[in-house]
Amino acid sequence: MAVLHRLWRARARASTPISSIAASTIRTLSSCSVANSGADLEAPSLLAQNPLPLRHGPKDRNVQWVFLGCPGVGKGTYASRLSHLLGVPHIATGDLVRGELSSSGPLASQLAEIVNQGKLVSDEIIINLLSKRLEAGESGFILDGFPRTIRQAEILEGVTDIDLVVNLKLQEEALLAKCLGRRTCSECGGNYNIACIDIKGENGSPGLYMAPLLPPPHCESKLITRADDTEEVVKERLRIYHDVTQPLEEFYRSRGKLLEFDLPGGIPESWPKLLQALNLDHNDEQSAAA
Ligand code: ADP
Repeated sequence: MAVLHRLWRARARASTPISSIAASTIRTLSSCSVANSGADLEAPSLLAQNPLPLRHGPKDRNVQWVFLGCPGVGKGTYASRLSHLLGVPHIATGDLVRGELSSSGPLASQLAEIVNQGKLVSDEIIINLLSKRLEAGESGFILDGFPRTIRQAEILEGVTDIDLVVNLKLQEEALLAKCLGRRTCSECGGNYNIACIDIKGENGSPGLYMAPLLPPPHCESKLITRADDTEEVVKERLRIYHDVTQPLEEFYRSRGKLLEFDLPGGIPESWPKLLQALNLDHNDEQSAAA
């Protein structure tokens, strides 16, 4: 870890303007210990060859995973479920950005303008928010929405080893509808989706059905929609995802860390299959719930 620390100090010095931020990221992220990189593994059979280190002795650290995927694909939903199951924090940079937006901090108005246009916040600001979140040090995490640029991925790679990158995929047609259907209860924070997606299979391509995830009656009158979940802004976010974030698939594929997962439907169909793909079984789920 000391080597990693020094390496990062050197890189941080070389790469202004992010240096001071990276230095604090080094301190916080490097408090996580490092496991096998797995970089020598073949991507498609990564899990088949190497069952994931899901049960750790006290000396081992917990999983360090990243969730990739287009806006609306369900990164937050599945990352959050897995974080409960595995007992690691779910760290979503979108939530960190929204937290900053809802504060009266100096960044809020600058961020609102960027986020509400569907643009990406600068790497510098994101690393700064993430550094603050990780100040206490984490032993294991599931990152959602970070990294989103090759530069962010390089910074992350410099400070710690990521075990696995789960790339969630869904038919493009469903993504816009899922974003537009998102609702959050302003009181309890529960996340729902009022969209009912029913895409018929055509010319050999499979159909897709995703039932809505409706709120309970006591939340119905308190639902709010994210300011950046309008049609125009979602289309811009999808465009930016394809241009700037999608190259991360190759970045992680070439390192043997990418697990591609095509969502077969809504949560009832997808969750058990995702557990299976991750070599987690229902016993893991039951023991986590107990
Ligand atoms: P999405 O539904 O598009 O995946 P998120 O909730 O992850 O949305 O993020 C909301 C917004 O926060 C993004 O559109 C972007 O402006 C900003 N954001 C979140 N994570 C990052 C990141 N890693 N880099 C740059 N901007 C980010």
